[in-house]
Amino acid sequence: MAKKQDESLVKLRHSAAHVMADAVQRLYPGTKLGIGPAIEDGFYYDFDCEKHFTPEDLSKIEEEMLRIIKEDLRFEKKGVTREEAARILRDSGEKFKLDLLEGLEDEKITIYTHGDFMDLCRGPHVKSTGDIKAFKLLSVAGAYWKGSEANPMLQRIYGVAFKNKKELENYLKLREEAQKRDHRKLGKELDLFSFKDSIGAGLVLYHPKGAILRQVIADYITARHLEKGYQLISSPHILKSDIWIQSGHYEYYKEHMYIFESDKQEYAVKPMNCPGHILVYSSKIRSYREFPIRYFELGSVYRHEKSGVLHGLLRVRGFTQDDAHIFCLREQVEAEVISVINFVVETLRVFGFRDFEVELSTRPEKYIGTLSDWDEATVALKNALGQKKLQYDINEGDGAFYGPKIDIKLKDALGRAWQCATIQCDFALPERFDLKYTDRSGKEKRPVVLHRVILGSLERFIGALIEHYGGAFPLWLAPVQAMVIPIAEAHVDYCLGLREFLHQKGLRVEIDTRDEKMQRKIRDAEMSKIPYMAIAGSREMETSTVSVRSRKDGNVGVIKKEEFVERLLEEIKIDQEVED
Ligand SMILES: [Zn+2]
Ligand SMILES: [Zn+2]
Repeated sequence: MAKKQDESLVKLRHSAAHVMADAVQRLYPGTKLGIGPAIEDGFYYDFDCEKHFTPEDLSKIEEEMLRIIKEDLRFEKKGVTREEAARILRDSGEKFKLDLLEGLEDEKITIYTHGDFMDLCRGPHVKSTGDIKAFKLLSVAGAYWKGSEANPMLQRIYGVAFKNKKELENYLKLREEAQKRDHRKLGKELDLFSFKDSIGAGLVLYHPKGAILRQVIADYITARHLEKGYQLISSPHILKSDIWIQSGHYEYYKEHMYIFESDKQEYAVKPMNCPGHILVYSSKIRSYREFPIRYFELGSVYRHEKSGVLHGLLRVRGFTQDDAHIFCLREQVEAEVISVINFVVETLRVFGFRDFEVELSTRPEKYIGTLSDWDEATVALKNALGQKKLQYDINEGDGAFYGPKIDIKLKDALGRAWQCATIQCDFALPERFDLKYTDRSGKEKRPVVLHRVILGSLERFIGALIEHYGGAFPLWLAPVQAMVIPIAEAHVDYCLGLREFLHQKGLRVEIDTRDEKMQRKIRDAEMSKIPYMAIAGSREMETSTVSVRSRKDGNVGVIKKEEFVERLLEEIKIDQEVED
């Protein structure tokens, strides 16, 4: 759910859109207007204009906007009849606005003006153009009228507006920093992953450095699950459609599934891991004594997302979840949820995240299960959050139809929130799959099922990590932990031996044997954000030492190669310790 915007900011931003439209029409007479809403941090307006807007034009439009702001023109509201509105729009040739008017069901139409500018609009606006104190135009992009490729392509200009100059400056600084850290840009620069049209949009191709990063995370999270009493299972990537019909995915989720036929049998690539886990549960008779049963899988799933929403590693079509399903008694739910929350917080801290946003989503209008089921589960989730003294927002009515849930978002170095963990109660699947256990008195009952992920999707999590660290990963995560650099040709053999020695100690090391100056090699290793450099020349060769440079501490000096290994292994250990 999008964050609720401050009403006064929405008014300000939408008013800035009017001022921008006025400026464009003053500069480029004959330009027709599309829509111009407020959006997060700013606004946009769609224009039909023969002139193809360039970045220079944006500065010109900004200057014109400043003039309009200086004129301090009042925003005036005018109620008109449909016929009047249609006549006004027809006279001014605003064909897109006319199209909008036809789609409006309102009896009373309102028109807003400032100076000579007029717009079909519901408002509200600030009092006067002079109230717009801080804005900036950022970019221009193509946008089909009403989002349909069958319609003409308009030019959409994006801008931002804030209450004052300081807030605008802060925003622009943060934006610049975010652009530097963009995981798509760093993914290419650090040679971590790529996407190729030839294999399909939203499908990640991990290069060696990205794949090792992913594996380090996968190994870590798997080990932690085993420590915490989860059992590892593995389910296939394709399952017959019948199972998806039984689970309800076929009915509720079909548009996101890849379905195909083979040997006259329909299958679907799994969009979720739940059915596999449930089938392992129901593979034998269960007793309350076994509870809680916690099944864990690094499950790769495929979901058909619209191409327009795909975004680097953050929104993809194929991804791997650190997914688990917990089967338990009702009275165990609260304790299980608390232990999952602990797990999330500990894990995220190890990865360097200290701040979180927590949301609880409650019963929607359409739901299954009884009211008392819902109340009980919601109370259990609330109690767990209360026990952990976590501040949280409630999204009233925003839960899935089958149960309430908790979402935990991590906050990165720039204060941006990224969805990761989810804990979800489920009343539907136990019914649909007729899950049972025998209770204390020998009676058959339904278990509760909790779905939960800690990191969420590995892909999205890696995207968040890249941006959080700006690509400069801590040692334990760094794809290449040290670069071995021979000073001259004569030292290459020694350095190859050194690399082998470090490999055997489990360290991830590369060697730079290019015919380049040492300074150049050092600079390139720095650019690749490699945590350590081990440089060796004649002196190091004779004494079995290396000259060490650390990304964090600068020049470490000449040390024995064993000492170098110890230093790295110790740092890797400390990186993974959970502090309070
Ligand atoms: Zn308006
Ligand atoms: Zn599930």
